[in-house]
Amino acid sequence: MSFSDIPVDVGPVYEGERIRAKQMYVELGGPKIEKHFELVRVKQPKEIKDGQVTIYGPDLKDMKEGERYPIGILVEVAGEELEEDLEAVFERRVHEFCNFVNGIMHLNQRYTNWIRLSKAAYEKGFNTLDLLGKVLIRLYKAELPIIKQAQVTFYTDPKDIEKPYDMAMEIYNKRDERARTIHDEDVDMFYGCVLCQSFAPTHACCITPDRTSLCGSINWFDARAAAKVDPKGPIYEVPPKECLDELAGEYTGVNEMIKKRSLGEIDRIFLYSGMEFPHTSCGCFEAIDFYIPEVNGHGIVDRNYGSVAINGLPFSAMANQTGGGKQMPGFNGVSIQYIVSPKYQQYDGGIETIVWMPKAVKDRVGDFLPQDLVGKIATEEEVQDLAQLKEYLQEVNHPIVETWAEMLEEEEEEEEYEAEGAMVPMGTVGMTIPGAGGVGGFKIILKNCKVHAEAIIIKKIDSKGKRKK
Ligand code: SF4
Ligand code: ZN
Repeated sequence: MSFSDIPVDVGPVYEGERIRAKQMYVELGGPKIEKHFELVRVKQPKEIKDGQVTIYGPDLKDMKEGERYPIGILVEVAGEELEEDLEAVFERRVHEFCNFVNGIMHLNQRYTNWIRLSKAAYEKGFNTLDLLGKVLIRLYKAELPIIKQAQVTFYTDPKDIEKPYDMAMEIYNKRDERARTIHDEDVDMFYGCVLCQSFAPTHACCITPDRTSLCGSINWFDARAAAKVDPKGPIYEVPPKECLDELAGEYTGVNEMIKKRSLGEIDRIFLYSGMEFPHTSCGCFEAIDFYIPEVNGHGIVDRNYGSVAINGLPFSAMANQTGGGKQMPGFNGVSIQYIVSPKYQQYDGGIETIVWMPKAVKDRVGDFLPQDLVGKIATEEEVQDLAQLKEYLQEVNHPIVETWAEMLEEEEEEEEYEAEGAMVPMGTVGMTIPGAGGVGGFKIILKNCKVHAEAIIIKKIDSKGKRKK
């Protein structure tokens, strides 16, 4: 496969490339644009003109520098062995293949896709989407040889994009609806995905019927289809083997898989917990489940939420804590689809511990949650800070309020022990030091415990491992 006719380099080496606002020529899609999408569809060979790229709306060279535009990417593929179940898995590769282009940064998926083109690439001659279409077609056919023909259509005009956008939303909804029809106990095979290891080397997703991948793009059916056509590929079978803990969702087969795929970094995963041995998160989770110690509950914030969440942190700050392939108790990357699963973080108390989520997320998942709970979950419309949240939860009698009395009792009991000068065991302590490998910063989460110390001394250790005097 040759890219000699493309004015910039193309290859996996460019995958991690960041394009900051100052460096960008134009932005396509992203959180500030209303309608955008990427979709792959399997078609009959006669419906496809192999190699064809079509653009509806302004091309890159017609766009104004520094501006934002809608982007719809429709990739249509054909091949004898192809089936509809493979569409979502092919679609996930749009992210990877766009990122192969030196000068293009692609983030997210489905209707949250977000692309930046660098000024440098534009100046080198990457001034038409026709080039991006050509790259995509070549990569699809080379990397997934079961694809025999492919054509790509781009939509960049707010009017032209409307119809294909509605069609894409309908297809995403259908896929999600189907995913809701089965549960982990109904199947004897789970799946794994390592597509994100180029960004998070210790991360592998475990995809089960109840736990759609955290990027939201690959459900159990999609993973099954992908593993069938390419068993040695990035999506593979994970026999669950023995269930060690039903509530936590701990399986020997999943533990073995993560140990192998994280190169020994991680050896235990609770599929249904964000607090103990949580599933790792790469960087493309649709939402974050975060613990709010002040109310002993959890919040959910999604990628599209532009303001600060109820704990005072924006999505981006929490995403830094959550991602990178580490296990981070208290911050867990999740898909929107997983929120509606009856197994949602059941080890931590399940959906009944959710006290806050953005209105937009509530609108999306509300119909599928227990109806007596939905009205009790606060959004940015009801409360602005933790004090208001506390009041609100009491007012609506949210089930989490029942746990407060217990918490208070425990605190009082500990205070009694303290008054007697007794040493109290600390209970569960989750301690994580992300960035210890040199990325910088650390965070310690201590849940349900009190620490008494006269002083804490932090000493720098020099590179030879000796303490500095
Ligand atoms: Fe695969 Fe998980 Fe990355 Fe989605 S988030 S592409 S399922 S590794
Ligand atoms: Zn990822």
